[in-house]
Amino acid sequence: MYLIPSEFQSLQPPEQIPVWEWIEKHRVLNRRSSSEIGPKRVSRTPALKILYDWFEDSKIRKVVVQKPAQIGLTDLVVDLILWIAVNDPSPTALFLADQDTARKIMKFRIDPAFREMGLIKHSSANKSQEATKFEITLRNGFYLMVSWGSSISQTGSMAFKRIFCDEVNKPGYDATKTEGGSLDRIDERMETFSDSKFFVFSTPTIDTGRVTKELEICDTIYDFKVPCHFCGEKQPLSFRQVIWDGGGKATREQIEKTCGYKCVKCGKKWSEEQRKNAVSEGVPEPREKKENLANVGYQLHRLASLFKGGNLSTMIYKWIHAQGDQLKLQNVINSTFGEPYIPRISAKPDEAILQVKRCKSEIGLGILPPDYLALVVSVDVQQVGFWYRLRAFMPDLTSFGIEEDFLSTWEEIEEIVFRHENGLPKIWRMMIDTGGGKEEGAKISRTTETYQWIIDNRCRGVRIFACKGASHQLPSNIKVGTPLEKFPSGKPIPGGLQIVQINTDSFKDELWSRIDKTIKDKTLPRSWFVHGETPEYVFDQICAEEKRRNKDGSAEWVQIRPDNHMLDLECLCLAAADFELFGGIRPLQVQRAQEKRKISRPAPSQEVKPRQENPILRRY
Ligand SMILES: [Zn+2]
Repeated sequence: MYLIPSEFQSLQPPEQIPVWEWIEKHRVLNRRSSSEIGPKRVSRTPALKILYDWFEDSKIRKVVVQKPAQIGLTDLVVDLILWIAVNDPSPTALFLADQDTARKIMKFRIDPAFREMGLIKHSSANKSQEATKFEITLRNGFYLMVSWGSSISQTGSMAFKRIFCDEVNKPGYDATKTEGGSLDRIDERMETFSDSKFFVFSTPTIDTGRVTKELEICDTIYDFKVPCHFCGEKQPLSFRQVIWDGGGKATREQIEKTCGYKCVKCGKKWSEEQRKNAVSEGVPEPREKKENLANVGYQLHRLASLFKGGNLSTMIYKWIHAQGDQLKLQNVINSTFGEPYIPRISAKPDEAILQVKRCKSEIGLGILPPDYLALVVSVDVQQVGFWYRLRAFMPDLTSFGIEEDFLSTWEEIEEIVFRHENGLPKIWRMMIDTGGGKEEGAKISRTTETYQWIIDNRCRGVRIFACKGASHQLPSNIKVGTPLEKFPSGKPIPGGLQIVQINTDSFKDELWSRIDKTIKDKTLPRSWFVHGETPEYVFDQICAEEKRRNKDGSAEWVQIRPDNHMLDLECLCLAAADFELFGGIRPLQVQRAQEKRKISRPAPSQEVKPRQENPILRRY
């Protein structure tokens, strides 16, 4: 418990002035707690000023800010905490990414700020503890707890009026294993206060990161828009509009001489000074105008900063130096620009699942559609068992997911694959993924085991293909290699074994194009369905990867959930029927067409037509 010094009393009673004005009147920055020195000037951070207004707007309950690093937001939080301590003493919490950050913020930012304002004094008793101290208690009822994401569960049932969460995209916030996200858990702590306030900040990571998701569910999102020096057009700042000569090979001198910002409307180039002037005149504007906002989002860009980090040339250097290094590039996009990395091409995860669900057919589990042409099974060998997918193809390449499951033994797999031995419809092709790693403690790797199983079972009436995903770009979608003559151990394979390389990325593209097509029109060829009783995990696994576009324009599939087995199996099924794999279902199509013609051909007696006279014979 800290004593309230006499200076504190002089600040009472609360002044009826805006929060930002109160800060400018009372807060002096010094070298201990800030990079800037002298009276705090909110006008130095024009893009942040609205956050002070939202802080005191009683209608607003939650504020989410997606931001670049180092634009003065930590100092803003310190401002607000100081204001609370004096003007509305109440329980307050600040959550940071991790314990180390919490200790540093407490030691170098909050503690000095409280001392400078005379709210707490040094005493030898707490000096020794201050580095590990994460609380400030004042006698007027103010209480501050500085904590970190992973310790949320340890904060028990403490109630807070205002909570600030910084860097919510950091993994610390994932540590809470309890139901609901850690942010929901934090949110619950404010239920006792009707006038509570929740601030959530973070530099983004990827576009499925927590802060980006939080931003999307806000009532509206604000952008900081600045007026063009030439035409007056108000626009949010973006690195896309930053221009300079020399591209990726520009020299420092070249950048400094030629850099500028190109107006989105008139195309004229602003100088660095003109950008700064524009930022000083900028105003936050909502993307959608709405009444009675309770949750507001705010997207900030480093270019909206007047600090050195927001300079055009600084940003260009960072951008150029990150080229060719994915991690560096992500860091620049996240921390410098304040934007999430790699915008998605495919749908958002939750939407994707809904899309796949719209491909449910009315056919129940295990039921074959009438007139199906070929039955295909794909198997993914895991350390402890097998995932499999059974799919039926129609002559027009429309296909139906028939059944799927996880099995533990080869015997169970054989029951599925060689079902014709039990009088069930025969499977045409089997695709088995042989890419599995070594089983712990097992004498042979699962790859060897799988090869052996294929060799032992290749004469039982089902065409078995040993498959593996191509780790490099193939010229075609499927490549049938020359037969392997040896097991991975070196032991010879009798008769050899052909490995089929599958370009999994292009089959993922193909799968999604079929899903898209099916949603639009279920009657067209190449439609793709799952059975009517498909369990949830199938949808989750099919959507376990999403396609993203890199900043350089290339695209890649990125795994977003741990289990993607069903996605791989669906790709293998499509590969089984693909024309590139020994003609795919084409020979079956031809055969079916011939059979149909035979059936539809009229009986010979009806075929008899009056014989035409031979024009040559007629002459005689
Ligand atoms: Zn303009």
